[in-house]
Amino acid sequence: MDEFALIGRYFQPLGKRRADIECGIGDDCAVLEPGAGRLAVTVDTLVEGVHFRVGIRAAALGYRAAAVSLSDLAAMAAQPRYATLALTLPRVDEDWLADFADGLGEALDAAGCALVGGDTTRGPLTVTLQLIGTLDGPAPVRAGAQPGDVVLVSGTLGDAHAALSLPDDAEGDDDRYLRQRFERPTPRIALARDLRGLVQASIDVSDGLLADLGHVARASGVAIAVEAEALPLSPALLRRCGRERALAAAVSGGDDYELVLVVAADRVAEVLARARVLGERLSVIGEVRSGSGVALYDADGRAVTPARGGYDHFA
Ligand code: ADP
Ligand code: MG
Repeated sequence: MDEFALIGRYFQPLGKRRADIECGIGDDCAVLEPGAGRLAVTVDTLVEGVHFRVGIRAAALGYRAAAVSLSDLAAMAAQPRYATLALTLPRVDEDWLADFADGLGEALDAAGCALVGGDTTRGPLTVTLQLIGTLDGPAPVRAGAQPGDVVLVSGTLGDAHAALSLPDDAEGDDDRYLRQRFERPTPRIALARDLRGLVQASIDVSDGLLADLGHVARASGVAIAVEAEALPLSPALLRRCGRERALAAAVSGGDDYELVLVVAADRVAEVLARARVLGERLSVIGEVRSGSGVALYDADGRAVTPARGGYDHFA
């Protein structure tokens, strides 16, 4: 199968006939007519053995590649519109390609995102996905947090990280739940879109909650205080590794792709009400203070030192 047949069979179907797409896959460039407004653009590369393990299911890789970049668009409150894919493959394996395209297409479709172009080359397995979204409100940039603001997070934290330490053959209900939280992170697009204009600053949790909050604190020139007891932990995570390691995974483990939202105190009630209407879990986890750095506190206001590394192995 040559390169063009491969693109035609597996990737052309992920394009869409849409008025805003003048040319998609098949021409020298995609020609797009996004309409009025600004663009939000993001690109991420996933390298086998570095960002995902050798032998990951192809559908999971495709889904995850899309989901992590969709999450970046969500962090900017952008509406996903277009994707381009640079794919480097060691060999042509049609079953693998079909599964990969299925996973990728499922996640892009759910977000209203069309694949409009890309590049296909031979080499070590590498997936580079660029996403373009449109912005119709203020972008909740990392520098937007101010003392007195409240810090919220979507979903639950720590699940994806815990999944990485599961034995391959772990097949209990909790194991399956944790694994799908890693393989199929949920980009919080609907939530981010609904809250646009109400959020001061935002970031998605890719490197770990404290690390990512650190980016916000630095960019905004503020301190962020997080209350350990307020962190949302899934029942599966708690059952599988106990409260202490669950907490360590929640604060230091990455890969959850939940959204941190920094909201002015007088808007928190509205933000929580909107999340409830959407059926999205959203938890208040801390506050912005003057100063610098990110610190974790217990309910009595005492500083907590998060356990590190303790979450790496299941008992
Ligand atoms: P060019 O020689 O102009 O770079 P290519 O031969 O690389 O074109 O690609 C042919 C067409 O297929 C282009 O429209 C390109 O955007 C698209 N394409 C190539 N690889 C992919 C891919 N992995 N996913 C989506 N579109 C792709
Ligand atoms: Mg090319």
